[in-house]
Amino acid sequence: MKLDLLPQFLIFDNRNIPITYQARSNVRSITARYHAHKQCFSLVIPRTISRKKIEDFLRTHHDVLCSHLKTLPAKIPLQHGQHIPIFGQEHLIVAHPSHDDHPTFCVPSTLKQCPNMTKKLLEGMLRERLELSIALAMQNPEFAHLHDMRPKVRLRDPHSRWASCASDGGMMFSWRLVFAPLYVVHYVAMHETAHLIHRNHSPAFWQLTRNLCRDTDRATLWLKQHGQELFRYG
Ligand SMILES: [Zn+2]
Repeated sequence: MKLDLLPQFLIFDNRNIPITYQARSNVRSITARYHAHKQCFSLVIPRTISRKKIEDFLRTHHDVLCSHLKTLPAKIPLQHGQHIPIFGQEHLIVAHPSHDDHPTFCVPSTLKQCPNMTKKLLEGMLRERLELSIALAMQNPEFAHLHDMRPKVRLRDPHSRWASCASDGGMMFSWRLVFAPLYVVHYVAMHETAHLIHRNHSPAFWQLTRNLCRDTDRATLWLKQHGQELFRYG
């Protein structure tokens, strides 16, 4: 059974709702589940079932399956002009020309008089951005085949190092790396990743780090020259 030859969408209200399939040898009948968070269906099907039987199932169950969709409000894309609640407070997404040449970090004007709140809010947002960048760097396919563990990442504000890797694989990064170029963040993440294999700074460690991050030399130089500047902020 070639799963990609099966119907890939259920059509409802001029919308294509994706369908994914899992073929199992230990099931005898088709079961369908609707995943509201992804707005898609997944079908568990017997491994030997014919395509026609699946098409029949989708046809005869079309109304029942679509009843899930009717009860849900339409998706709200993260696009200009949309309103989204952030921690319960409605925010408008605005594509603004002031962000074109000089990206702007906006905070509510009510925070002008509250430097502490502004600092808290910004630091929270910046930490989230850094966490995301580190997580993306860790998804590096070159890293995935080296080690299948997902390191636990924490952000701190250390004074003497940019990151560290504990023996249990947990990693700490300085939140101030958010003020460094992205290739530096990537390098630091790959440096700590290489420590999962080599718990030292041997030539083999550096070889692996360079394999994981082409910008290793450029990034170490940047940190040497500009690292101290990261402590200016906050
Ligand atoms: Zn190191």
